[in-house]
Amino acid sequence: MRIISGVTGKTKLLGVIGNPLSHSISPQLHNTLSKHMNIDAVYVPFEVKKENLSDAIKGLRALNVAGFNVTIPYKNDVMEYIDEFSREAELIGAVNTVKNENGKLYGYNTDVSGFVRSFKEESGMDLKGKKAVLLGAGGASRAIAVGLAFEGVSRISIINRTISKAEQIANIINNNTLTVAECFCTNDLKVPEVLREGDIIINTTSLGMFPDIEGTPVNFPFEFTKGQVLYDVIYNPAKTRFLMEGEKQGLKTVNGLGMLIYQGIQAYEIWMDVKVPERLIKNLYRAFSEL
Ligand code: NAP
Repeated sequence: MRIISGVTGKTKLLGVIGNPLSHSISPQLHNTLSKHMNIDAVYVPFEVKKENLSDAIKGLRALNVAGFNVTIPYKNDVMEYIDEFSREAELIGAVNTVKNENGKLYGYNTDVSGFVRSFKEESGMDLKGKKAVLLGAGGASRAIAVGLAFEGVSRISIINRTISKAEQIANIINNNTLTVAECFCTNDLKVPEVLREGDIIINTTSLGMFPDIEGTPVNFPFEFTKGQVLYDVIYNPAKTRFLMEGEKQGLKTVNGLGMLIYQGIQAYEIWMDVKVPERLIKNLYRAFSEL
C-alpha cells in the first residue's frame, strides 16, 4: 500500500468561507502555490450558511487555521468577528482575507492591491493624477475606488444604476483621501461626456459576464477617446463586449484575471510571510488563463 503524505500532522490549514463556492478557483490557486513554493499547507472550501457564520468563524479560530479568504456574501458580515483591520479593509467596510495569529484575527482587503498591481503591470499606465471612471458601485467598485485613491488619481467618476450606492463610495473617497469623487446615475445625460473625459474606464458591474456575454455597461455605438485604457473586472469571458469594442477602436484593454490572481497572491503572502516569485506568478497567470 502507498502511504499518502500530502497532508501530515504539521500541515497548515487555509480555506475560504462563502456561499456558493462551487465555482471558486481559490482552492486551485492556493494549493498550486503551496506545491510550487514547497510549503506544507492545504486550502479547502468551507461553504457556510448565513445562520452559521458566527459558529464557523469561532470554529476556524478554535481549530487554529493559519488564515482564510472570505467571499460573497460574507465580506461585510464577517467584520464583526475580526479583531483588527488593515486601513483599506476598514475604509471599504469589507474583508476578503483573514490571518490568524495566536488566536487573534486580522482582516485585510487584498482586492485593493490585486487591482492596483494588475492595472499597473498590465496596462503599463501610472495612476497618479489620472481621471478614472468607475462603472458600477458594488463590492468590487468600493475596493477599486480605494485603490485608485491610494494611488493618487485626481478624480473618480462613479456611474451606477442605483445612485445611493455610488454616493456611499464617493463619500468614502471624499472624506478620507485627497481624490475628488463624483457620481452619476446610469441614465444621466452627462454620462457620455464623463466617459470620454476619463483616462481610464473600469467596468466593475457584472454586465457582460458569462453566460450573458452580450451585456455591456456602455451603450454602443460609442466612440471612446484615443489613449484611454479600458479595464474589466470580469475574466469569464476573457474579452467582454466592453473590452472588444475598445479593442476595435485601438484602445489598451485589460481583463480581471490579473486582479483575481494578485489578490490571491497577496493573501498567500500575508498568511505565510513569504514573497511569491515573479516567475511563479507569470506561470500561474498563463495556466489560469487556459483553464
Ligand atoms: P455586487 O456588489 O453585486 O455589484 C454589482 C454591480 O453591478 C452593481 O453596481 C450593480 O448595480 C451592477 N449591476 C448588476 N446588474 C446590473 C444590470 N442589469 N444593470 C446595471 N447594473 C447592474 O458585485 P461585485 O462583488 O462588485 O462583483 C461585480 C463583478 O466583479 C462580478 O462580475 C464579479 O465576478 C467581479 N469581480 C471580479 C473580481 C476579480 O478579482 N477580477 C473581484 C471581485 C468581483 P446596482 O448597484 O444598481 O445593483
